[in-house]
This record gives sequence, structure tokens and C-alpha cells, in this order.
Amino acid sequence: MPMDTTQIFNTIEQWYAEHRIENVPYWITQKYLYPKLDELQTDLFTQEVAGESTEKRPIRYLKLGNGNIPVLMWSQMHGDEPTATRALLDIFSIMQNQKKTEIIQSIINTITLYVIPMLNPDGAERFTRRTALSIDMNRDALALRTPEARILKSVRDTYNTQWAYSLHDQEPRYTAGGIGKAAGISLLAAASDWDQSITEVRRDAMRLASCVGDYVQMTLPDQVGKYDDAYEPRAFGDALHTWGTRGVLIESGYIPRDRYKEIIRKANAIAIIGSLYHLARQELPTDASYHTIPLNRRYFAEYIFKNAAISINGENAGVQDAAFHLVHHPDKSTTTVRFKLALTELGDCSPFAASYIFDKSKIRINFIVDASSTSGLPETDENGHCEIVEPASGKQITITDGIPTVEPQDIFNLQI
Ligand SMILES: [Zn+2]
Repeated sequence: MPMDTTQIFNTIEQWYAEHRIENVPYWITQKYLYPKLDELQTDLFTQEVAGESTEKRPIRYLKLGNGNIPVLMWSQMHGDEPTATRALLDIFSIMQNQKKTEIIQSIINTITLYVIPMLNPDGAERFTRRTALSIDMNRDALALRTPEARILKSVRDTYNTQWAYSLHDQEPRYTAGGIGKAAGISLLAAASDWDQSITEVRRDAMRLASCVGDYVQMTLPDQVGKYDDAYEPRAFGDALHTWGTRGVLIESGYIPRDRYKEIIRKANAIAIIGSLYHLARQELPTDASYHTIPLNRRYFAEYIFKNAAISINGENAGVQDAAFHLVHHPDKSTTTVRFKLALTELGDCSPFAASYIFDKSKIRINFIVDASSTSGLPETDENGHCEIVEPASGKQITITDGIPTVEPQDIFNLQI
């Protein structure tokens, strides 16, 4: 009698608690990752160098298992999207430690997994999306002008991988549909033509995405979104389907106050192991649940100030709401990731959900706007964005270059 998904989830969640790798930095670079892989390496996987990045960093791929279903998996083709790389370390640790169990045995005897953890090490070094040549390699699947894109294509072609997981992060500003909950993880079975047809290959990808989504739901109820499926022929997810590989894209999003995405990381690890098990047993669900996943909407902010008295360069602009979203920001002096705020919306913010909502009609916000600002929103002044004042206490938050001088909850005595 096969286990049901709840039993499988509970088992893997327990393993996660026991075997996750502690103290993995959010700003993970190859200098941390590769020694860690060497430390983990036993008989679970072998490592090969697939080629070099633009700046001549070796790019490794791992081979796990010896089954007859070849599966491709890669993380961090965008250097500032580290969550899944951190989850992969947990996955390898779990698989090693629980190798003799039925779940892991099924996976490694049925599947051969080819994993490229950190496809863009140059971007990771800088904490930037793009490669050292300033190219978004997820627009290079057809032209293959970057060495990193050529590496990904060659691993796919060499092993003729039948399935794929493409692992990313998305900005912390999405809700799962319009229900007011953040999109913790978003999924996509990408289109392979302009009509977004559901081909057999794409339908299979939707079945894998359904399975991933079912597991993510157990960690993050109602916080699973569906990524926009507009066709982008230059993206790997879309191109994979034309090459016959069924691919699911997993976007690590955000849930309130989980700024370093530890819960999202855990949801990734459990969903990837769980879905590999179903794939190995050829027990993927139908694509039905994929179609019920709500679309991503850009309605999540970190802070919302409702009914604030707004002024722009001291000129009264009436009573409005102002929403700010979080931006992960590399602090090179400490090599840690810190946080900026950027103005999301000024005006009616009633559809927005947020980590923190302040509804105190006496808050004053003054935006200091450079005359050359072209965005239409009062932002990006070289000297500062805005000043937020709570007149009763006289306390003030100054947001300069998006960074609040103090956290707003410290001023408003918010219990969190
Ligand atoms: Zn990405």
C-alpha cells in the first residue's frame, strides 16, 4: 500500500528538521558552496565540471542515482536568486542520511538526477541577476551566446533529460491571486508557443507542477501562485518544451517577515523530494490542480501606511495610502544581504496585503523628489526618498535610498 501525500510530507518534514544544513549564508557564493558539496559527498553523488563561467569559474554538475529516467535540475541561473541553492544542500543532506529508506531508494533507483547548483557563479559573486557580461541567460536559450547557457543546453542534450526543475526567486511583492496572501512559491509549466497551447509535453509538466504545488501547499497553505505563462521563446523553460523536456519552474517568493526565506527554503526541499518520489513511482497527479492555482498578482508590500498625510517636497498632496516593498540588497562591506524599501504604490492601497500595516491617520509622509524623476512615482532622489513622521511622538523615519533609518515597528511600538 503506497503512502499518501500527507504521510510522505510528514516523513520528509521530519527528515528536514534532522538533516538541514545550518548556517548557510543567504548570499551564497561558489566559495561557500563547492567546499560544502565536497564535505557532503559520499556515495550519493558524483561531481563533474561541465565548463567555465565567463570569469572562468568552473561550473559543476552532480549526478545522483542510476535510474532510467533522466531529470535535469538547476538553480541560480540568476545570481541574486539563492533560495533553491540553499535548499539543494538540504536535499542532498537528507538524501544521503535517509538513503536506505523506501522514498529515497525509489528515487535513486528509478531516476538519474543531473543537478547544476549555481549556474551563474559570477552573478552570485556580485549578487546580481545577470552574468558577468550583463546578460540575462534566461533570454539566451536559443542564441546560446553565454558560456553558462551553453553549459545548461549541453547537459540537457548529453543526457536527453526527460524532465526538468528550473529553480528561481521572485521579488517579494506578489500575492497568490487576489486573496490577500503572499505568494510563498509560484509555479509555472511554461508555454511553448504564442498560443500557449497545452501540448502533451506541457501537460506532463503541469502534472509535475501540480505535484510540487500539492506539497508546497502543505507547508504554505493558500500561498502558492502561478507565474505568468506568456510565451518567451528565449527562456529555457519555454525552450525546454520545444526540445521535448517537461519542465517545472519554481519561483521562491516571500511570506511576511521571513526575510531570509528560511520557510520558503524548507518548502522547496520538501516539495522537490516529494515530487521526485511521485515521478519515480509514475504516480503524478493529473494536471487538474495546476489549473486551480491562482495567478500571481503584484499586491504584496512590506509596509503600508494608510490614510497618511502626504506631501511632495513639502507641498500638500492630500490624504493617501503609501505602500513600500522589500528589496534584497547586497551590502558589500559585510558580504551580507540587507534590505531596502522601494515605493510600490501611492494612492488607494486597499487591495494590498503587507507584512506591516499602519493605519494611523496622523502619520505624515513627505517625499523628497528629484525634478528629473521620470517614474511618475515620487521616488529615487539621490539624497532621500521620504520622511515619515508620527506627530504625537515626534518620532521620525527617514527613508534614504530606500533604507529606513529605523524599522517602522520600532517607532509605532508594534508587537510582532
Ligand atoms: Zn530567475
